[in-house]
Amino acid sequence: MRKTLIINSGSSSLKFKLYNMPQYEVICEGIIERIGQEANFVLKYQKQKHVIEQTIITHEVAINLLLEQLKKHKLIDDLAEITKVGHRVVQGGEIFTSSTIVNEQKLEQIYELQKLAPLHNKANADGIKIFMKLLPNAQNIAVFDTEFHQSMPKESYIYPVPYSWYKKHGVRRYGMHGTSHKFVANKISQLEGVPLEDLKIINCHLGNGASLCAIKDAKVLTTSMGLTPLAGIMMGTRSGDIDPSIIEYMAKELNKDVFEITHILNNESGMLGVSEFSNDCRDLAKKADDGDMQAIFTFELYVTRLVETIGAYAARMGGLDIISFTGGIGENNALIRKMTLDALDLFNIKIDNSININSTLHDDRVITLDDSSVKVWVVNTDEEYQIALEAEKF
Ligand code: ADP
Repeated sequence: MRKTLIINSGSSSLKFKLYNMPQYEVICEGIIERIGQEANFVLKYQKQKHVIEQTIITHEVAINLLLEQLKKHKLIDDLAEITKVGHRVVQGGEIFTSSTIVNEQKLEQIYELQKLAPLHNKANADGIKIFMKLLPNAQNIAVFDTEFHQSMPKESYIYPVPYSWYKKHGVRRYGMHGTSHKFVANKISQLEGVPLEDLKIINCHLGNGASLCAIKDAKVLTTSMGLTPLAGIMMGTRSGDIDPSIIEYMAKELNKDVFEITHILNNESGMLGVSEFSNDCRDLAKKADDGDMQAIFTFELYVTRLVETIGAYAARMGGLDIISFTGGIGENNALIRKMTLDALDLFNIKIDNSININSTLHDDRVITLDDSSVKVWVVNTDEEYQIALEAEKF
């Protein structure tokens, strides 16, 4: 029996999911958190959860522990059963327009791209490097968050700044969450029984990080994240788009440098910054329920950013068939979905309120009535499955 292991290697964590192939049956999944210190290893399978707490200094130690535990729990008999390892890589630049089997040269290129994604690409590449060493006979396949967005037209990805910034320094919109946007778009096409080429979709991936993506002719027309994940709509702790002059202004006001201000825009802004309370929608929803005006305003601001972006994307697509919601907030927060759709009055969207608010429904579902002009889907994203699917192409 051959198996595909999906790895999302971050700077201090490593998420994994193991599939039996070719039936895409999930064998187990889990996470190793706080690598570099007293770490937490969580392995879940068949409704069981196993936790190990021990000091894990490096990613290599973490991966060795993972492989050892897979054998110990008899989830694999032999490491040779893992014939493919699919790796999430955040930034593929303009070099990687599709998933690829990683060799030494491509690994080097992924490391070089860390200039564009310093927080992510090094950790992603380190993960690949370790698997190339520990499982030398397995194929290591890199699947890039930016890949789907490489289908964007030039007018969507060039910023109106000196053109040399693009030519010499790679400044352009790359977009993120491409694997999720691609998965959701294809899922909707499959569930609708309509080729993706014939659908105009705006997918709202709303998690801690959040991005919107307009999909037309089975390609990305545009997306809200930019050179980095800081751009676009308001997020858990990120500001999204702001007047760039605010950076210089606040650097002077607070006597901080550009790096410190950017850190605040990434980590202390968004829902957290505005609510002055939490970046987590669930906490804010409780506060809003208690009548806290700042929590209510935080939701209103979040929704306003969403509505403005959806309106702009619909105008660019010259029409709109489907809006889809995914990610932790998109899949679970009925209030944000309703506030957003109500504010899009222009599109004559008719929500099926009973389905929208029914928290016992977890399958992919349509939350609009049959006579709604735009259909609205809630789709459970599955980036690991999409990576396994990409890995299967080789
Ligand atoms: P990440 O971008 O880190 O993967 P998630 O997609 O898990 O994040 O999204 C995190 C957000 O989703 C948080 O604001 C959280 O409150 C919200 N969320 C997650 N699960 C639920 C739930 N069951 N009900 C309501 N909100 C949820």
